[in-house]
Parts: sequence; C-alpha cells; structure tokens
Amino acid sequence: MYNWALAQRREAWVQEKKSVNYAKTCKALTELKESPEREWLNEVSSVCLQQSLRNLDVAFVNFFKKRGGYPAFKSRKNGGSARFLGNAFRIEGDSLFLAKIKTPLKVVWSRKLSGEPNQCVVSQNAAGQWFASFLCEEEIAKLPPSDKKIGVDLGIETFASTSDGQKFGQPKRIRRLRKKLARLQRQHSRKQKGSKNREKARRKVARLHQHINDVRKDFLHKLSTKLIRENQTIALEDLAVKNMVHNRKLSRCISEQGWREFRTMLEYKAEWYGRELIIVDRFWPTSKTCSCCGRKADLSLKDRRWTCECGVTHDRDINAAKNILAAGQAVPFACGADERPAKNYVLRGSPRRSRKSKA
Ligand SMILES: [Zn+2]
Repeated sequence: MYNWALAQRREAWVQEKKSVNYAKTCKALTELKESPEREWLNEVSSVCLQQSLRNLDVAFVNFFKKRGGYPAFKSRKNGGSARFLGNAFRIEGDSLFLAKIKTPLKVVWSRKLSGEPNQCVVSQNAAGQWFASFLCEEEIAKLPPSDKKIGVDLGIETFASTSDGQKFGQPKRIRRLRKKLARLQRQHSRKQKGSKNREKARRKVARLHQHINDVRKDFLHKLSTKLIRENQTIALEDLAVKNMVHNRKLSRCISEQGWREFRTMLEYKAEWYGRELIIVDRFWPTSKTCSCCGRKADLSLKDRRWTCECGVTHDRDINAAKNILAAGQAVPFACGADERPAKNYVLRGSPRRSRKSKA
C-alpha cells in the first residue's frame, strides 16, 4: 500500500508536476479496491490501508519540513507493519483480535499494558519475528524530589563515567556478539545470490542484529533510569561538542549512536519523572582541566590517570564528569581561579502523556 501510494505521488509529480495529498490517495484507494485485479485489498482492514497512506503522508511532511529525506520504497526483506486503531483491534486475555482476521492471535506479553490501549501496530522485523506494540495513555507519577546532582561523561572505552566516581561499561557480551555477527555476515556474503541458503543466512544475520540491539537498548534503559531515579539534576556534555574531535573508527560511530540514544532517553525520562537535564554546550577541555584548581594539563589520549600540580590525582573520565557537572551549575573551582563557562540550556517540561508498551 505504502509503495503503491508512493509510486502514485512520485509519478504525478514527475509526469504532471502535480502534488497528490493524503485525501487524493485515499480516493484513489477506493477506486483501486473496486478494480477486479485488486479485489483482494478488501480482505484486509481498511483502517490499516488508510494508516499506510497516513504514514506516507507523514513521511512527505517530514521531507517538506526538511526533517527527513525523500520517502523511499519499502523492501519486504526489512519486514513491515500495520497499524490498527480504535475498534479495529481488541484484546481478550492472551488473545489479540484484529479486524478481518477470524482467528485471534496468541500474544506472549513482555510486560503488562500500563493503560487502555488506543492503537496497535503489528510488525515483522527483518529477522521474521512478529511484534504487537500498543500505545497507551498513562499518567506518570513524578519521583519525589532529591538534592543529588551528577555530571556524566560519555566515552568510547567506558560508556559513561560519573562525577561521583562510578563507571559504566557497555555489556561485555556485546563485543562477543559483534564478532559473531561479522562471522555470520561473511558466511552470508559467500552464499549464492537468490539461493535458499542465502536467505537463511540473511535471517540469521538479521536475528543477531536484533539481539545485539536488544542487549544494547536494555543497558541504555537501565542506566538512564538509574541515573534519573537517583539524581535530581544530571549534567551532560553536548554531543555536537563531543563530536568536534574527529575519529573515523567504527567504535566511534557505534558509541556516537549509543550516546544519542542515551541522551534521548534521559530527556524524556527527565520529563516523565520531574528531573532536570542540563546540556553543557560550550567547548572547553573538560578532560584536561583539573576539576579542583582549574589548571590545564598536557595530556595525550593514552593518559587515563594523572596528577595535577595541585597534588590531586585524577581519573581522566571522572575528572571530566566533575567538570561537566560544575560547568552545568556554573560554580567556581574549589581552589579559586576563574569561573567555569556558564551553563547553557536546561531541558525540563510537562509530563508526556503516552507511552509505548511492546508485547
Ligand atoms: Zn589541580
């Protein structure tokens, strides 16, 4: 449906310089359903068909507002999804009833639904696994206020170091799984194109990708929730600043992706639970400046520990985290010296209403 509508909109533009909007694609859909060769479209819920058109429309809006690229055709290999709204789905115990499907689907719940769902998306991933996601309305209770503050430095070797001296590394098994992934990818590329074995190998690769992603996300969720629960204020360095240090290594790309996701999680969780996230966005050498006296040390990337002239021995990452926290609060150095750069922007807000639960 999505690809069909995309083709319609593209052709209309390329051939006649006409733009086709959502309403027009809906009308074309009604006509399409009446044609004998596309009669089978009546076998599926019209809600889902329309939602596909809606999704495409959102993709176009994003494109016009420069938030995304030109909508691309979707490949069946990457899985797909169908959105059911309102009366188009119903849950009874472990059974999910979908419009126009007579037999209910058996659902294995990954968590309890947190409210009355008003939307259900059934999707299949590239590995061929099926999921049903529900969108529920929920009032999220704010956490009791705390007076703890923390600075967080994100890094490659250690994922996160905090100003109170803790270090959090990515789960060790991720590295092992990545090696396994490389092996599977090699096996996949050796299989003959179009063969059944190649398809099998592709699924294996996709499944492992999914697994690695799950392990990674689990880690990020647990860490962000922990930090939000324990602290009222969290200071984080702006990633745009962090990325000023160029490095083309793969490990860097992977870390950057993790940092972005982590920051997004902290942002919305801070909103949910009434916490404060401060983004320190002015560039200054957080890891090379002594967090006690403000002297700048001459360090290479290899120096993980160093002793400042003032006599304090620092762990590089934890020192950076302390500087980030202090910069976020604009406090002067403990031993005198200049004031640190002022804090830049604070993310705070009203609680978000909806939340996704996945089964
Ligand atoms: Zn010092």
